[in-house]
Amino acid sequence: MEALIAQGLEELGLTAQVPAQAPAQLAEYGRLLLEKNQVMNLTAIREEDGVARLHMLDCAALLRYADFQGKTLIDVGTGAGFPGLALKILVPSLKVTLLDALGKRVNWLNEVAQRLGLEGVEAIHARAEEQAQVKGFRDSFDFASARAVADLRLLSELCLPYVKVGGQFLAMKSVESGPELEGAAHAVKFMGGRVRETVDYTIPGTDVTHRVVLVDKVAPTLKGYPRRWAKIQKEPL
Ligand code: SAM
Repeated sequence: MEALIAQGLEELGLTAQVPAQAPAQLAEYGRLLLEKNQVMNLTAIREEDGVARLHMLDCAALLRYADFQGKTLIDVGTGAGFPGLALKILVPSLKVTLLDALGKRVNWLNEVAQRLGLEGVEAIHARAEEQAQVKGFRDSFDFASARAVADLRLLSELCLPYVKVGGQFLAMKSVESGPELEGAAHAVKFMGGRVRETVDYTIPGTDVTHRVVLVDKVAPTLKGYPRRWAKIQKEPL
């Protein structure tokens, strides 16, 4: 896994900007993931090569589109830590908050962070729409990220509240997300966001193309938002 990741980082043009130990650390994270996946549902990908490419390198590609050095990021619906924990390994000065509604996954993330000796990682067991009401979380982060969590229309209400004005929400999506983005235009605007750019990238060593939607936070979160999950689903913005 380590060699594959190192080669992929090279192809992404990232070798010079990530720590020398990043490929080894990402590979160790990948091995811990596959080991735990035998007893806990963490990922549908079951081979090392797939983990290296479709998890680690997919997340690493974000480094081409945002500067995370010394910044704060909350990864909403982080699951097994994607993209948040992978980004932390690639940019040690990034302070990362990993948030998920499933306590077992959060406990495992804390174990992994400890095993890898990572500092500046906090894993929180909470629902995104509830935690966003907490002081120190609302309008507070340089970045919010989310991969494979919800439709952008709903996801905007879950993620944009965390981002400070001047910060960014990074939504990792498929290249078929065109109609989804159109359908989310009002929600993004209402939640104080403005789409800056949509970028498609191919994951090294694959013919898989993914998309990242970069949303600037341009206005503070309105009082009363995010709403309760039932309401978000029933009456999407
Ligand atoms: N982001 C990871 C990835 O790309 O591999 C995990 C994706 S997994 C399909 C979606 C995750 O989002 C699950 O772990 C789930 O518990 C979490 N999730 C969904 N809705 C959530 C919410 N409202 N608040 C917190 N976590 C949520």
